[in-house]
Amino acid sequence: MDRDYHVHSTYSDGRFLFQMVRAAADAGLDGVGIADHCNVSDRDAMAEQKHLLGFNLDQTYERRREAIDRLAEESDIDIYDGVEMDYHPDEEAAIATFLEDADFEYTIGAIDHIETVNIHVEAYFTGKDEGEREAIVDRYFDRLVALVESELFDVAAHPDVIERNPALRGFATEDHYRRAADAFADSRTLPELNAGRALAEYGEFHPTPGFLDALAAHDVPVVVGTDAHKPGEIGERVRHLERYLEKRNLRPVDPMGER
Ligand SMILES: [Zn+2]
Repeated sequence: MDRDYHVHSTYSDGRFLFQMVRAAADAGLDGVGIADHCNVSDRDAMAEQKHLLGFNLDQTYERRREAIDRLAEESDIDIYDGVEMDYHPDEEAAIATFLEDADFEYTIGAIDHIETVNIHVEAYFTGKDEGEREAIVDRYFDRLVALVESELFDVAAHPDVIERNPALRGFATEDHYRRAADAFADSRTLPELNAGRALAEYGEFHPTPGFLDALAAHDVPVVVGTDAHKPGEIGERVRHLERYLEKRNLRPVDPMGER
């Protein structure tokens, strides 16, 4: 892999842009895509992200763009102006309008909430019985298919992010993977091979090997992202991704390229 398309900066919950770019260069990459969290939603959970966490790229993307341009002048590697956009099926019109105005170089769509709760909140889902957790995973895949079919994004972030949460892990079925792979096969949206938890407790990439098999059966390629929030995460995740790409005989594609 020579490019990482999923890195965060202080324009959401990562570290300074120059630190992330320098770390990508040190990792031997030729290009790095800055994909900060962004939403244009009125949902309570999203308002909280704006106010408490400072995810305000919808208001700061022009400032970030100027910073990227300035850094690009003195950097040896390419820097791309991307976004990790929150997706909800009820908000497609607002997302479309915003993305058209903002004109990022590429867009990643992400689903982080189910039932208004962040998928990472383990305690909430541990309190549910098995049938309920099954239903939540089912709903997650419905949502993923809707994201892909919306054609709003170049990339779908970490397409089985529910696996990160031990309380939701293991409920996804081959049927879910097949449905999602069918949707990707008919869409311009590409799935992301995401290393965000591959060196953490979860220990796997997104999507899981079974999901990747379903995508391969449809000849759907992947875009690669480390999902790094700290500079030190880029190099180790790039090397881990490279080993896995070689093992799976996968060649990642450019989300800004023609399909
Ligand atoms: Zn991310």
